Amino acid sequence: MRRSLTNNTIQTKVSELLNHANITSDPVDLMKIAEFLKIQVKYHALPDEVSGALDLRDLSNALILVNSGHSASRQRFTLAHEIGHFCLQHVATGIHIDNKILFRKNKTDKEDTKKEREANRFAAELLMPEHWLKNYLFINGSLNLDYWNKDDGIELLAKKYEVSTSAMAIRLDELKLIPRI
Ligand SMILES: [Zn+2]
Repeated sequence: MRRSLTNNTIQTKVSELLNHANITSDPVDLMKIAEFLKIQVKYHALPDEVSGALDLRDLSNALILVNSGHSASRQRFTLAHEIGHFCLQHVATGIHIDNKILFRKNKTDKEDTKKEREANRFAAELLMPEHWLKNYLFINGSLNLDYWNKDDGIELLAKKYEVSTSAMAIRLDELKLIPRI
């Protein structure tokens, strides 16, 4: 079985993608990225347990489906996650469906688990690039505990990057940019 991609590898891939697609400011314009990658994006009412899918049944017409019934920030995360599957070449052909219930049932498939983790890491880096966050915090002198307590910085950053507050909190924690609660 192949090894998991390291965080550095994923970060490099994301930063190349941002450069090539000419994305230079937040919130990251995912539609522009999809367009750059020549992926069509469709929003559909899907069963609640399905967040989205990457459809490569016709390789010349890559398609990402996003569950339109989920919240805006979740739809955005799904789109970034599916872009991750595409860029990390997780799906050779056919259709990959992100179904929470099916995934739980197939928990024993380690390769699938690995792909899901990698796509999630790709999505987090794409939506909240590490050096953008660090630059912002550095410029605003907000790398201190008081700031986070007083001004609810996580919420502010979540709005700025158009992600959920929980996604931003996890990201800041993983980058060690906020003290552990
Ligand atoms: Zn997935």
